[in-house]
Amino acid sequence: MPVARCAFCTSTPLREVAVSKWTTDPDDRQRLTVWLCGKHMQRVQKAGPNGYAHGAEKFKAGFW
Ligand SMILES: [Zn+2]
Repeated sequence: MPVARCAFCTSTPLREVAVSKWTTDPDDRQRLTVWLCGKHMQRVQKAGPNGYAHGAEKFKAGFW
């Protein structure tokens, strides 16, 4: 079910995105899906191996 806001801001989310999430060790990551607005979807998808930092957590698109 769609959620009311983006995982990273208060915008209306555009779509659900499969992401990997970690804090310090990228090899110790969680795989989950989050609802993101267009802006944050782009940022996560373009983040590269270092991920998009949101607070202490890093995110990147995909489960690999
Ligand atoms: Zn957002």
